Amino acid sequence: MSYRVRKNDTVVIITGQEKGKTGKVIFVNPTKGFVKVEGRNLVSKHKKPRSASDPGGIHKFEGNIHISNVQIICPSCDKATRLGAKIDGDKKFRICKKCNAILEFRAEKAKKKGKEKEVRESKSGDSRVKRTRKTKEEAQTEQNPT
Ligand SMILES: [Zn+2]
Repeated sequence: MSYRVRKNDTVVIITGQEKGKTGKVIFVNPTKGFVKVEGRNLVSKHKKPRSASDPGGIHKFEGNIHISNVQIICPSCDKATRLGAKIDGDKKFRICKKCNAILEFRAEKAKKKGKEKEVRESKSGDSRVKRTRKTKEEAQTEQNPT
């Protein structure tokens, strides 16, 4: 199951202490189904001083919020909304169910992979280890073309 909430989306919290407050998604955990929202659901952690550079104290950081407890705010109609999906060729769009605006498109997985490979190739010039590993991978795929 993939969630429709992504990093950098603006969401509104729909339940709990901070009901009605909005914020930007800074982290999504799709396997456990929670998000972290910037400045929301802050939890304190009391840390002991470990060294001079780690003085300890009370640290505040964003706690987990379940994805079902947040709702995306559509950037074009500015309302809390649910999202639909629209597929156009090999592109997948997330659309606002209230105003039908397209939030952004997402390339198919195969295309994404190609992009990553491109990045790796451009980096391989300055890293011999990576290049060797890549050649091994390629050799393996040639042997087992499944
Ligand atoms: Zn909308």
